[in-house]
Amino acid sequence: MTLCFATNNQHKIKEVQALLGNDFALVGLADIGCNEELAEEQTTLEGNSLQKAQYVFERYTVSCFADDTGLEVEALNGAPGVYSARYAGEQRNAVDNMKRLLENLEGIKNRKARFRTVITLITPSGQKQFEGILNGIIIDQQRGAEGFGYDPIFLPDGNTKTLAEMSLDEKNTLSHRARAIEKLVTHLKHRNLSNA
Ligand code: IMP
Repeated sequence: MTLCFATNNQHKIKEVQALLGNDFALVGLADIGCNEELAEEQTTLEGNSLQKAQYVFERYTVSCFADDTGLEVEALNGAPGVYSARYAGEQRNAVDNMKRLLENLEGIKNRKARFRTVITLITPSGQKQFEGILNGIIIDQQRGAEGFGYDPIFLPDGNTKTLAEMSLDEKNTLSHRARAIEKLVTHLKHRNLSNA
């Protein structure tokens, strides 16, 4: 069956296609003729991933899934959360975002944080959400040059390397996104989608 991943990120599409195997032909937004930026106007990760999946399902009549991720810092009551990409402003700059986060955590001992990904799948037989979590702490100094976003200041629990000091393969063995995708793939493989 054909399934659309509501993203234009070819890297994400390749990664999930490899996990899904040949039973599913994964396509991206460009493949279904959708060249617009999907709106993310909700106040939760659940809401945003649902909004994106619903839009694609209704407008393009294709089974699809969408993801949304946020960094949730305990001492900041879950901020930046759903606003992670634009924490320091609409320029959506990773360095500015990390700077703002470290400023807001100055003098705070509790550095616990987690990345959380929510994926919403919609097919004609209904909708389902999958969550992936990576727990860790926010460190004071940036370390590493790999990855993106908050990776240089996020140290996963039980690790000595930040996410930005890991190769992509290493990050994929433990990341929030990989965990959510794994649940989605297990679900898709174990249900009968013949009438979906
Ligand atoms: P998105 O929902 O995947 O676009 O993620 C939203 C924002 O969360 C990104 O712009 C980043 O700031 C942050 N983020 C998401 N995933 C990661 C990650 O794996 N490492 C670091 N930051 C991330």
